[in-house]
Amino acid sequence: GDSVRDPLLDGLNPRQREAVEYRGPSLLIVAGAGSGKTSVLTRRIAGLLRSREAWPSQILAITFTNKAAAEMRERVGAIVGNTAEGMWISTFHSACVRILRREAEAFGFSKNFTIYDSADSKALLKRILKELDADMYGLTVSKAANRISQLKNELTDVDGFARDANLSDPAEKKFLEVFRRYTRGLSDANAFDFDDLIGQTVYLFRAFPQIAATYQRRFKHILVDEYQDTNHAQYSLIRELTRPPAPEQFTSAQGMLVQDNNTEAEAASLTVVGDSDQSIYAFRGADIRNIVEFERDFPRSTVILLEQNYRSTQTILDAANAVISNNFDRKDKKLFTTIGVGDKIVGFTGYSGHDEAQFIADEIQKLHDEGVAYKDVAVFYRTNSQTRALEEIFIRAALPYRVLGGTKFYERAEIKDAFGYLIAVANPADPLALRRIMNTPKRGIGPATESALQAWADDRGVTLRDAMRNAVELGLGPKVTKAIVDLARLLDEVMAKVETAKPAEILSELLERSGYVRTLRASLDPQDEARAENVDELIAVTKEFGKNNPDGTLLDFLTEVSLVAAADDLDDSSGTVSLMTLHTAKGLEYDSVFVTGVEEDLLPHRMSANEPGGPAEERRLFYVGITRARKRLFLSLAMTRAQFGEVNVAMPSRFLQEIPADLIEWKQSPGMSNSRSGSQSRSLNARRGSGNGGGGSWAGSLREAASGGLPPAPPRAKTEWANAITATVRDNGDLTLAAGDRIRHTDFGDGTVNQVTGNGPKSIADVQFDTAGRKRLLIKIAPIEKL
Ligand code: ATP
Ligand code: MG
Repeated sequence: GDSVRDPLLDGLNPRQREAVEYRGPSLLIVAGAGSGKTSVLTRRIAGLLRSREAWPSQILAITFTNKAAAEMRERVGAIVGNTAEGMWISTFHSACVRILRREAEAFGFSKNFTIYDSADSKALLKRILKELDADMYGLTVSKAANRISQLKNELTDVDGFARDANLSDPAEKKFLEVFRRYTRGLSDANAFDFDDLIGQTVYLFRAFPQIAATYQRRFKHILVDEYQDTNHAQYSLIRELTRPPAPEQFTSAQGMLVQDNNTEAEAASLTVVGDSDQSIYAFRGADIRNIVEFERDFPRSTVILLEQNYRSTQTILDAANAVISNNFDRKDKKLFTTIGVGDKIVGFTGYSGHDEAQFIADEIQKLHDEGVAYKDVAVFYRTNSQTRALEEIFIRAALPYRVLGGTKFYERAEIKDAFGYLIAVANPADPLALRRIMNTPKRGIGPATESALQAWADDRGVTLRDAMRNAVELGLGPKVTKAIVDLARLLDEVMAKVETAKPAEILSELLERSGYVRTLRASLDPQDEARAENVDELIAVTKEFGKNNPDGTLLDFLTEVSLVAAADDLDDSSGTVSLMTLHTAKGLEYDSVFVTGVEEDLLPHRMSANEPGGPAEERRLFYVGITRARKRLFLSLAMTRAQFGEVNVAMPSRFLQEIPADLIEWKQSPGMSNSRSGSQSRSLNARRGSGNGGGGSWAGSLREAASGGLPPAPPRAKTEWANAITATVRDNGDLTLAAGDRIRHTDFGDGTVNQVTGNGPKSIADVQFDTAGRKRLLIKIAPIEKL
C-alpha cells in the first residue's frame, strides 16, 4: 500500500503524483514557480525507466541549459541507478547537433560542419554588409543578426522572405541580399549558426520522412521543461518528433519500393511543463501561444495544475504573487506554501552602484558568518554592465564569486585563436577560422594578401584553403608565399590524423608547430602571460575531455565545447557566490537571492518601454528573479547609476510599488550606521543635511533614519523620489569646475581635477585625489567644494 516508502513517489502531493504516473498521448503541466514542475519531469523519466516501460534510449528530455540537463541526469540516476546512459537529456541545440551530425550527409552537408556562435555569425555579417555597402540603408551588424535570427526562429528561409517582403523598398531589398549572402556564406563554409541547428533539423525531418521516422520510432517519450520559452522552430521540432512514424520502406528483390505495415508505430508520448508567467524570451521568438494553444494542437492532452510551492517562504511568495498579478491577460493562479512566513524581504537604496554593491558584499559576509555557504547565495542583475561595480567591491572584500555567462573563457581572443586552428583542421571549408589564424602569430600575411587569396579562390570556385595550398600560382613575394604554403601544409598534415589522434594531441601539435605558444611566451606584454595560461587551461580541458571520452574525436570535442560555451559554463560553482543575469537565473534556486538594480530603465529595461508587451515581459523577469529565493530575498537599487560612461539619476522601479509595503524592511545605508567609519557617516550626513526644503516623506524618513527612526524606503511615487533625491543628495547647483581646479571631497579629501566631461547636470569630473586615488564624480551631487 501507500505506506511503503518509495523514492519515486515519496512526498509528492496528489497532483504531482498524478503527473508522474500519467500514461497517455500528451500531458501539459502548467504551474507557477517552485511548484515542482522540473522535479515531476525528472521523476516521470525515472518512473518510466524503473517500470521498464521505456529504455533509456527511448527517452528525449529537453532542458533549457546544459547545467539543467546534467542535474536532471544526475537525479534520474539517483532514483533508478546507473541506467541513465544512452538517454538523451539535453538542450534543443545539443539534441539537434547530434541529429545533424548523423544525418547531415543526407542533405548536402558533411558531418564535420562548424557551429558558428553569435560572434562568428557577426563576423560573417560584417563582411557581407561591407561588400554590399549596406550601412547606407541603416543596416547594422546587430540589426541584421537579430532580424535573421528572428526569421530563422519562424522557419522563414531566404525564398520565403523574398516571397513576402516588400521589395520595392530598397532597404528591404538590401536586407534580402544580406540574408541571401549570409545563408550562402554559411553553406560554403560548411557551417550552421545557432538558429540553423534547430531550423535545419526541422527541415531535414520534413524533407526526409524516412529519416524523421527513425527518430519518431526511437523516442517513445518526449519531455520538455520550460516549455513557455520555446519558439516556433523548437515547437515545430517537437511537432515533427511526435507525429506517428511512417511505416518503414524497403526495396524488394524486384526493385520495387515496399511498405512494411508491421512497422506501424504509435506517436511518442509528450510531456511539457511550463509557466506562462516565466516566459522571458519573447525577444528571441519564444511564443506563449505555444502553451496557450497546446490543448488545441494536442487534442487528447491532459492538463494538470500544481499550486503548492515547495521552494519559498510565504513572504517571498506573496511578493511574487503581488507583482505578477499586475500583468493582464494571464490566468490567475495562486501559489501557496507551508514553509512559513519567514524573514521579511530586505530593501536597500544605495547612493551609487558601488554603494549598493558594498551593501550586498556586507550582507553576504553576514550571511556567511551565520553559516550560509557562498554557493547558496546568488546575485542577479538585468544587464551585464552592472557586474563591474559588483566585481570591484567583491574583489576588494575578498568574496569568492563567479560570473555565470559573462565574458566566458571560450570568448577570449586566445581561446578563439586556438579554436581557429582546431576548426581549420576539422572543417577545411570554413574560411572564418582560416582568416582568424592566417596571420596569428604574425607571419607577414596581411589583409591584401588575404584578399588576393580570396579573390583567387572566388574566381575558380574553390575554397580559401585551396587557394593557400596553391599560393605559388598567385605570384606573391617568395617570403609570404612560403609562409602561406607552410601553414597550409601544417594544417593538412594534422588534418590527416583528425579521426585517430586525441584532441589534446592535435591541439598541442598545432599550437607548437604554428609558433603560437612560443610567440605568447616570448612576449613581454604581461597580458600575454595571462593568455598563455589560458591556452594551457584549454589544453587541460582537452585532456580532461580525452579522459572522459576515450574514443572522443576532435569533432566530438568541438561539438561539446560549442554547445557548452553558448549556453552556460563548464564547471560548477561550488564554494562561490553566483552572479548572473535574471535571464540566466531561470529554473535555478538559491537560499539567498539579491535582485539588484530594481530601477526604472533597468528593470523594466529602457529598451522594453517601446516594445508591445515589453513592460509585462520585464515584470515576468522580475517575477523569475524573486521566485528563485528559498529563504532570504534582498531587493536593492541605487540613486545614481553609472552606465555607458555616464552617471545618471535613477528612479525606483515601478515594480517595487507593486510589492505590499509591509513585506519589505528597508535597511539604512551602511554609511548611516554608526558602526561605519566616522568620515563616511559624516559625509552622508553632510549630503543629507544639504537640502532641507521639501522632498516629501522619503527624504523625511531618511532624516529620521539618521536619528535612529524609520528606515529609508523609497517613495511610492516617481515625483516624490525625484524630489527626495534633490532634497537628500547634495546639490551643487551650477558649480563649474575646470582642469587644474583644486577641490575637497568629504570622503576622499583634497584633489586636483584632471578633466571635466559632459554637460549641465551630467557633468563629470575626473579627479586625482592626493591620497584616495583617481575617481570620477558627478559634479552636481558629489559632496565636494571648490578650494
Ligand atoms: P521553476 O518554475 O522555478 O522552474 P519548478 O516548478 O520546476 O520551478 P522545482 O524546481 O521542480 O520547481 O521544485 C522547486 C523545489 O521544490 C525543489 O527544491 C524541489 O526539490 C522541491 N519540491 C518539489 N516538489 C516537492 C514535494 N512534493 N515535496 C518537497 N519538496 C518538493
Ligand atoms: Mg523548473
